[in-house]
Amino acid sequence: MRMTRLHAPTLKEIPKDAEVPSHQLLMRAGFIRKLSAGIYDYLPLAQRVLKKISDIVREEMDAAGAQEVLLPMVQPAEIWQSSGRWQKYGPELLRLKDRKGNEFCLGPTHEEVIVDMVKRDVRSWRALPLNLYQIQAKFRDEIRPRFGIMRGREFLMKDAYSFDADEAGANASYDAMFAAYNRIFARCGLAFRPVEADTGAIGGSRSHEFQVLAETGEDAIVSCDTCGFAANVEQAELLKGEALEGEPASAPVEAVATPEQRTIEEVSGFLGRPATGFIKTLIVIADDKPYALLLRGDHELNEIKAKKLLGAEALMMADEAQVKAVTGAPVGFAGPVGLEGVEIIADYALINARGCVTGANLADTHLINVDLGRDFEPRRFADLRMAVAGDPCPRCEGKLEGFRGVEVGHVFFLGTRYTEAMGCTFLDERGREQPMVMGCYGIGVSRVMAAAVEQHHDEHGICWPRALAPFEVAVLPLQSNKADVVEAAEGLYAALKAAGIDALLDDRDERAGSKFKDAELIGAPLRVAVGGRGLKEGVVEVKPRRGDKVDVPLDEVVAYIQAQLAAL
Ligand code: ATP
Ligand code: MG
Repeated sequence: MRMTRLHAPTLKEIPKDAEVPSHQLLMRAGFIRKLSAGIYDYLPLAQRVLKKISDIVREEMDAAGAQEVLLPMVQPAEIWQSSGRWQKYGPELLRLKDRKGNEFCLGPTHEEVIVDMVKRDVRSWRALPLNLYQIQAKFRDEIRPRFGIMRGREFLMKDAYSFDADEAGANASYDAMFAAYNRIFARCGLAFRPVEADTGAIGGSRSHEFQVLAETGEDAIVSCDTCGFAANVEQAELLKGEALEGEPASAPVEAVATPEQRTIEEVSGFLGRPATGFIKTLIVIADDKPYALLLRGDHELNEIKAKKLLGAEALMMADEAQVKAVTGAPVGFAGPVGLEGVEIIADYALINARGCVTGANLADTHLINVDLGRDFEPRRFADLRMAVAGDPCPRCEGKLEGFRGVEVGHVFFLGTRYTEAMGCTFLDERGREQPMVMGCYGIGVSRVMAAAVEQHHDEHGICWPRALAPFEVAVLPLQSNKADVVEAAEGLYAALKAAGIDALLDDRDERAGSKFKDAELIGAPLRVAVGGRGLKEGVVEVKPRRGDKVDVPLDEVVAYIQAQLAAL
């Protein structure tokens, strides 16, 4: 491709709403443009990257025995009603009506459509296992679309669905997809980890996320420093420690004035005591019923765990009036001592809570020297919080380390959740009707592009892994007014193309400086500078995006580049 023909409008300024590197760089380098909140145009550079990702995905899915289909994006309400998700999915599901008043939605995912399709045509055990996938735009009306294409409302997803005759078969399908995902993200040139994950709204029992490691990732992950355990903090279970026997009780409870000091941070600063010595009391409303959840001051509630524990559909923080009704005090002063009429559940980390600070259920007052067991007794202990670095591993004697990630893929074991609800059955070898056993497997194709940039960039621009790069080599004639330079650059460009290499020729009449800048911004893994001075010696300068320059004889440069690319 010639730069003069390439539609890649670069920006000098970083767009105001772009907070993370991928959003900034993809906008600046002319890969994407925003049409509306969370809805983006993919320009030629982006489309080239998406195509490379999709090609890898297709090759590995096909190799794993899956078959590509293309399903409608507009989906009738009836199939969502039959799965029970029309009510459950909530406002992320964009609902619409046709001219006759029939209800539809834009597909956020395709379990309903695929189950409906398979159930009509697949009747016999002989047709199973079956794994169908597609690469297609999804729409989710995300409450906070942000970070550019990282969390869009419209985005490109590869979704696959496996159908098996029994659980063992479905587990084998899951394992095959798990292995394919490992190959896909490795081939994309990404540092990633599969981690145990929550099964979320789709529901199921076995689930892994594939996380691309990046400081800016939205997801917090923990992994054991000793065994192979790795999980999203939403999922990572924590075990109940040992209750210490015969711990001496601390001094008697004392009330202290803490005027206007509400948060743990404020009170801890005010009293000069560390947050680890606090008992945080959260009043939550789980399906209309209030609970007091106790956590160590420096820990965060894991709402997913709390919801599961309480068997609740919805869990919300109590509002001011509800807190007042339960504790008798304004928000910020709740505590377990003397708290009645509400079930108190304490996180495992509080099992040995002694000499703690808590709210006094009285405005502007806290209690100090509070001992669990002596001053209050929770109804029960439970695993309520997010795991953090330093926590003991739930599987071995090791310690958890923390890191951040971008979720690029997700595999779920679904079981018969959809096939039973929607009547997707088959006749087994003995003629008995059975529900098919399903798995579903997503890859955020457009998010992979953003994640790759988050992981591979520097202050000058993007540093694409070779497999995803829109161009593998940028050829820069440094003096566009010199015939020998232009001729050598054109010749090299033609030779690279003939060798099957994706090359970009910067044939613009620009200064060398701005050609270097744009090449770094766009981020091809290799750059070749063709200059008058070098040509006199018969050499051009090759520079890996993040490596050192090397002078290479012009007549050897294609072979040199091929070898360099092969090593990337
Ligand atoms: P998240 O927790 O990030 O919202 P999810 O669990 O809702 O993701 P899935 O339903 O598992 O996501 O969808 C499969 C894949 O689609 C995800 O692993 C992710 O890579 C991608 N994806 C999901 N939501 C978005 C989005 N809003 N924008 C871009 N990609 C997305
Ligand atoms: Mg989501």
